[in-house]
Amino acid sequence: MSATRYAAAPDAARSTRDCTDPWFFVLFNADRTVAPCCWHPPVARLAPGDSLEAALNGAAIKAVRRELLTGRLNAACADCPARGLTDPVSLAKRVQAEMAALRG
Ligand code: SF4
Repeated sequence: MSATRYAAAPDAARSTRDCTDPWFFVLFNADRTVAPCCWHPPVARLAPGDSLEAALNGAAIKAVRRELLTGRLNAACADCPARGLTDPVSLAKRVQAEMAALRG
């Protein structure tokens, strides 16, 4: 039996997910792991006294952002059931617009 795919697979024209979660959302689990959304594996585990900000600016979450912006998706994002497809330029514009809106 094959695995169920809930979302369309990325293709050449739409190589990334229309997802800004790694910039604007964080999931902090009871086991102290930090994830960019409900579907992606954790990108950090905080030890007592660790800064959440460090995890939010760490190499692992930056890699997820870079993968989305380049369309070179990791397996979790490629198979993501929650976000549709788009092209990297459109995603970059959306991220920039949402950042601008946050700054006011
Ligand atoms: S798994 Fe889906 S929701 Fe999570 S960061 Fe990747 S594309 Fe976004």
